[in-house]
Amino acid sequence: MIYLDNAATTKICEKAVKAMEPYLKEEYGNPSGIYSIGRKTREQVEKVRWIIAKSLNCKPENIFFTSGGTESDNWVLDNGAYLGNHIITSKIEHHAILNKCKQLENEGIKVTYVDVDKNGFVDMEQIKTDYKDGFENPVRTSLVSIMLANNEIGTIEPIRNIAMVAHRKGVLFHTDAVQAFGHIPIDVNYLGVDMLSASSHKFNGPKGVGFLYVRNPKEMMPLIYGGGQEKGKRGGTENVAGIIGMGAAVEDSMRNMSARYNKEKNLRDYMVKRILGEIPNVSLNGHHTNRLPGNASFTFDGINGTSLVVIMDEEGVCISAGSACAASAEKPSHVISALGIPKEKAYGTIRITIGHENTRKEIDYTVEKLKAGVKELRAKSWKLSWKIM
Ligand code: PLP
Repeated sequence: MIYLDNAATTKICEKAVKAMEPYLKEEYGNPSGIYSIGRKTREQVEKVRWIIAKSLNCKPENIFFTSGGTESDNWVLDNGAYLGNHIITSKIEHHAILNKCKQLENEGIKVTYVDVDKNGFVDMEQIKTDYKDGFENPVRTSLVSIMLANNEIGTIEPIRNIAMVAHRKGVLFHTDAVQAFGHIPIDVNYLGVDMLSASSHKFNGPKGVGFLYVRNPKEMMPLIYGGGQEKGKRGGTENVAGIIGMGAAVEDSMRNMSARYNKEKNLRDYMVKRILGEIPNVSLNGHHTNRLPGNASFTFDGINGTSLVVIMDEEGVCISAGSACAASAEKPSHVISALGIPKEKAYGTIRITIGHENTRKEIDYTVEKLKAGVKELRAKSWKLSWKIM
């Protein structure tokens, strides 16, 4: 099998598995226990907080463990709704943001969904102007949430500029860095973000664990009320093995980031060049250079992306027709539609996301199978249109 869907999830690294093992077996102490096996797990959990803080250039007290990206994003938006009644986000966010915003709208919160251009960059004019200050009407903007890098097209947003604009208006800024963390360098102070979400399974850590960076935890309302864990902000016994596995994956990805970045980018560029050069009527979605290293999203004229994914699966290659969570949806991807690509064309979209373990041989095999698959599907749709005529 050739796995090329690393934006959906990544294979857990050996270092994470090894680090977790003792905490699934003999080291079962509750980190809240004051006896030695409890103190030992507490020490390890706090060590991970410190590792993550170091990777982001912040303090350990700014890191809160969660169950992953969706939970971190939901927590931030609930907090935004608690502090005010207007949130600004974009049309291309992950459903962890968009569906939570829909729920908040049902509760009376106003949400502005900022447009993007054809490359997926958010409209800065809208970001600069769509604020409500609560003076002339009772609506007050409390949060701007824009993703750092898009999960479908890989475009990297100008987060530092957006955070500056939000702060000038006195509004908190959150970024969903689920696709970016562990793959590109992130310094929360340089970027000026107030909150940042990340998820372990996107950078070769275990699933079901992630974190939220919060610049000023005092401004954050608790997510889960319980036994006082996570400074009373997220109650519940910690996912000790998951957190420790995530810590090992963070260390591993920080240590190898630049080598992995270059490898993935080179493979991606090679693949893009071959696909655009050898298959007619295909375009690359998202910005050509300002994108995540392993991401490539293509739209092929005259085919259905899902059918191509099925053909590729039969050939032993895992790719995606959009984001993992929307892969079964009947509507074309909201991200591809927001780029201005017409509906009929948008259905012909696939996403290939390369990881650091992929090889050139795998890419060559994939390109050959894609060429054959696209040809087969186009021939079928051509025959079908002849019959209809
Ligand atoms: N945000 C983005 C940009 C994502 O790509 C994903 C997952 O695909 C999530 C949030 C949700 O993360 P998790 O799977 O950890 O809940």
